[in-house]
Amino acid sequence: MELASYADRAVSLVNTADPYRHRDTLTTCEQAKELLAPEGRCRVTNADVAELRAIRDRLREVFDAAESGRVPRAVQVLNSLMKQYPIRPVVTDHDGASWHLHLAEGAPTIAAVYGAKAAMGLAVQATELGFDRLGVCHAAPCREVFIDTSTNRSRRYCSDRCATRANVAAYRARRKEQARAAAANEAAQTESAAATAKVMAGTTTGR
Ligand SMILES: [Zn+2]
Ligand SMILES: [Zn+2]
Repeated sequence: MELASYADRAVSLVNTADPYRHRDTLTTCEQAKELLAPEGRCRVTNADVAELRAIRDRLREVFDAAESGRVPRAVQVLNSLMKQYPIRPVVTDHDGASWHLHLAEGAPTIAAVYGAKAAMGLAVQATELGFDRLGVCHAAPCREVFIDTSTNRSRRYCSDRCATRANVAAYRARRKEQARAAAANEAAQTESAAATAKVMAGTTTGR
């Protein structure tokens, strides 16, 4: 597994909350279990939910800061996360499994394991691709985050759904503008026809 791929955990965690639509899908142990599925079977407590939510707020700040060009702030928050949730790799074959890598061995909670991987993955991606690749969706009011891995650094939306929604909105705005321009044009033509008629009438009267 590539270390950068752990950045997906940061994206998944941040996107469990959508403050602008008042949606939050990380409020119960069941929901946390779903998020923590990549960590394998684990016990999840209310404390884990609370810890994940706290990590989520800080990761959101990393994306928001990077998106608005405040890279030093993004780095500061990311570094504080990595300090609190360090990577401690160990190779193990516990419970008869084949040799595999644990990245945050000895972490006190499963939330801490998740936080360590998410922060490190995000740091790897941000430093390899650039902090400008950490994005927040442009299709308002959506504020979901993403990592732009496109070759031309052009990604603006969290999903195809939002891209479509933004395109439809732009198309409607264009159509509305065209209709308004056409109406204004028509009004101008009517006015100029009336003026011409007036002039003609004047000419006729003058004779
Ligand atoms: Zn294991
Ligand atoms: Zn979106």
